[in-house]
Amino acid sequence: MPRLYFDANASVPPHPEAVEAVRRAMAEDWANPTSTHREGQRARHRLEEARREIAAALGVAPGELVFCSSATEALHLLVRGLRPALGDRPAAVFPGEHSACLNPLRDWTRVTWLPEVPEGCATAVQMAANNETGILYPMPRVSGAVRVKDCAQAWGKVPVDLSDCDAAVFSGHKMGGPRGAALLWLRPGLPWEAVMEGPQERRRRGGTEDLPAVLGLAAAVRHLTERQSLNAALVTLRDALETEILGWNRGVEVIGRDLPRLPNTSALLLRGRNGEAVQASLDLAGFAVSTGSACHSGAVKPSHAITTLGYSSDEARSVVRLSFLPDARPAEVEALAAALKRLT
Ligand code: PLP
Repeated sequence: MPRLYFDANASVPPHPEAVEAVRRAMAEDWANPTSTHREGQRARHRLEEARREIAAALGVAPGELVFCSSATEALHLLVRGLRPALGDRPAAVFPGEHSACLNPLRDWTRVTWLPEVPEGCATAVQMAANNETGILYPMPRVSGAVRVKDCAQAWGKVPVDLSDCDAAVFSGHKMGGPRGAALLWLRPGLPWEAVMEGPQERRRRGGTEDLPAVLGLAAAVRHLTERQSLNAALVTLRDALETEILGWNRGVEVIGRDLPRLPNTSALLLRGRNGEAVQASLDLAGFAVSTGSACHSGAVKPSHAITTLGYSSDEARSVVRLSFLPDARPAEVEALAAALKRLT
């Protein structure tokens, strides 16, 4: 049997058109977009064409987008860049945020956990969707603060609304684009300073733009609506799997089952079982799943995204995350259910 992949929240295979766009760009559009000769101008033209296309899909102005290499980088540039003007005031962050966001906040003088909003809050940081549980979160109402939205998991799975925030980040490799392409969106006029100096990206992110990755991302974005529809349709398959698992009466809990969630994600709390051991057994049986965010895999610490929901460390260690690819088929999900039944 071919291996079956249920770890879409870690990364998804790039769309074939994204692969082709990267291949072509590496062969033909390898020139430096900053160069002033014809080859450079052609590269610049392609870069700006891609920026316009991606901006139109997000409903923002092209000049508001900064190309980055990953959502982690975008979050670091964003949070660190807000610090010179705002960092002496407190920040509020969602406690289940990804470490990519929590780490740069360490430089701030004071950080509180949402929903607590401190007096004089300078920035509020909220993920649109949690990578481990799939739970969807609204942007908190915080007046006078820069509202930052982490859309790394939501993009391509559910519609993303930018009207309630001032800055946002997007990851390409989780929505059919290549690794190496991500976005930082900044509403004009933010009190933000570039921390990675250089002439590129209107002096907001130094470093030669990765044109092949950007063109691959633009190709993936052309299929964004289709990807979102495929993901939306997964809810039937995902819910049927959960109903079956709950019917085994083995004390399994689906985290966030009654909350709005990403349609492709199921975080199973297998009480009394070790999530890593279950994951390893499934891996041997041909199924790729995760015990939490890929960035945390291998770490002994239980996932904070789970413990902040009120679960104990032991419970957090018993979680297995299933995240379906947009084209997951019923037979594949049935095979996963059978393996889970056998191995848990
Ligand atoms: N934010 C969230 C919610 C994520 O799930 C991830 C990756 O898992 C990131 C940020 C970082 O994304 P990237 O892999 O593009 O650095």
